[in-house]
Amino acid sequence: MPDLFVDLVAPNGTRYTQPTGLFINNEFIASSGQTITSLDPATDEPIATVHAASPEDVDRAVNAAKAALAHPSWKKLPATDRGQLMGRLADLMEQNRELFATIDAWDNGKPYHVALSEDLVEAIGTIRYYSGWADKTFGQTISTTPEKFAYTIRQPVGVVGQIIPWNYPLSMACWKLGPALACGNTVVLKPAEQTPLSALILGKLIKEAGFPPGVVNIVNGYGREAGAALAGHPLVNKIAFTGSTMTAREIMKLAAGTLKNITLETGGKSPLLVFPDADLEQAVKWSHFGIMSNQGQICTATSRIYVHHDIFQSFLSKFKEAVETTSKIGNQWDETTFQGPQVTRAQYDRILSYIESAKKDGVEVVTGGSAHTPSSAKNKNGYFIQPTVFTGSSDTHAIVREEVFGPVVVILPFASEDEAIQRANNTTYGLGAAVFTRDLERAHRVAAEIEAGMVWVNSSQDCDPRVPFGGVKQSGIGRELGEAGLEAYTQVKAVHVNMGNRL
Ligand code: NAD
Repeated sequence: MPDLFVDLVAPNGTRYTQPTGLFINNEFIASSGQTITSLDPATDEPIATVHAASPEDVDRAVNAAKAALAHPSWKKLPATDRGQLMGRLADLMEQNRELFATIDAWDNGKPYHVALSEDLVEAIGTIRYYSGWADKTFGQTISTTPEKFAYTIRQPVGVVGQIIPWNYPLSMACWKLGPALACGNTVVLKPAEQTPLSALILGKLIKEAGFPPGVVNIVNGYGREAGAALAGHPLVNKIAFTGSTMTAREIMKLAAGTLKNITLETGGKSPLLVFPDADLEQAVKWSHFGIMSNQGQICTATSRIYVHHDIFQSFLSKFKEAVETTSKIGNQWDETTFQGPQVTRAQYDRILSYIESAKKDGVEVVTGGSAHTPSSAKNKNGYFIQPTVFTGSSDTHAIVREEVFGPVVVILPFASEDEAIQRANNTTYGLGAAVFTRDLERAHRVAAEIEAGMVWVNSSQDCDPRVPFGGVKQSGIGRELGEAGLEAYTQVKAVHVNMGNRL
């Protein structure tokens, strides 16, 4: 078994001590046997081996969370003090920004400068935002009759199991922890097995900030074992999950055993509509960002672009130009890199197989269409893929219907607003959508008609801790972020009061 702490030197020269154990009761401890080895996606070389939880280890973490829930150091902690603990955590994260950005870049493949200027801002901002909510989640007083009234209290749901994906390792952890902690729950968090490292540093800071033992427990582990054990554990009151729709179905089944409260953030095939009156430069800029940023590994990626036929050819050639001039491929450490390697060889293979099958079906390639061969010998085994643009006329290909989760987009023409809306909605998903037009009426009309949890007008991928995030249809259940995110982590208790003795 690996040591519980290893000294590492990242490719950008950062030296640090990486905890590798399971974080339970504020201590790093050994798992009962399994391990996960994290690889650098740019080189295919190992970074570190961490302990992976067995179902018995998960049970230990859940029991720690259960005990912490009842412990006066957490249960009786005034909500304002809880908020201050969260504020302290945000401060510590701020002090470790470069370290977190280094780890997520190394582990996930995203460019370091992006991790630092986007992921870290979002992660710290979310913890800060929810620290402010800790003492502002009130109940109501409800008048009933002259002799009686009722009031409601918002109480924590209890022990919360949180299962997160690999595309924004630290941000996803913070989206989940922020509202859960603000509302006084205790947590067992399972990071994705592809990116196990940054969450363990977060664990270290959680202890340093002063959170009582057992309030946050972090167990790396494989989905089918540790994830499933968490989702089915009888002492877990709620499961919050972000990941694929297929896994969400499994989780619903496992959670059904004890009727757990659930929130699910799952996949998408988000449409982006460009009307003929749109500002074309803006539409191209945002639609490129909407699919090609984060290596295309974004659940809300606007991966189906529908463009009015009057402007179709000029949009297509400008989009191609944007890809060729902006999507510079490179390793995580080069400041000019726009697109790093895909997260794992499995994702790389999956994306390439979508590209190959589309080509075989005769879908036209505008640019890209294969793996990228890096110029540096050090990166020859990295998981690099060319940003790829397809075009055609039919919506039937897998590339138009299924989530690829990579830098692959399909751009299709439409003739009328009704047709664009109908095709945008012709999907089992409903996460994000974007509309480009200068016509205010059309913008709001289309935003209302599109079946999605979020719509961007003349933009793509805006995301803010203050604004609810989530999907409809098979893209999820419930909302994260914003005030709506608190709903997922509190339950309302009604107290009926009889003030007189006569009735
Ligand atoms: P995934 O569903 O395979 O894994 C997500 C998490 O679930 C991981 O922690 C994994 O270990 C765990 N898991 C896997 N099988 C499990 C099981 N049987 N029981 C319990 N837990 C299990 O997804 P992924 O490949 O890691 O991530 C990519 C997918 O996530 C994409 O489809 C993407 O759209 C989706 N995603 C959605 C959002 C969103 O907010 N809607 C955000 C990011 C990613």
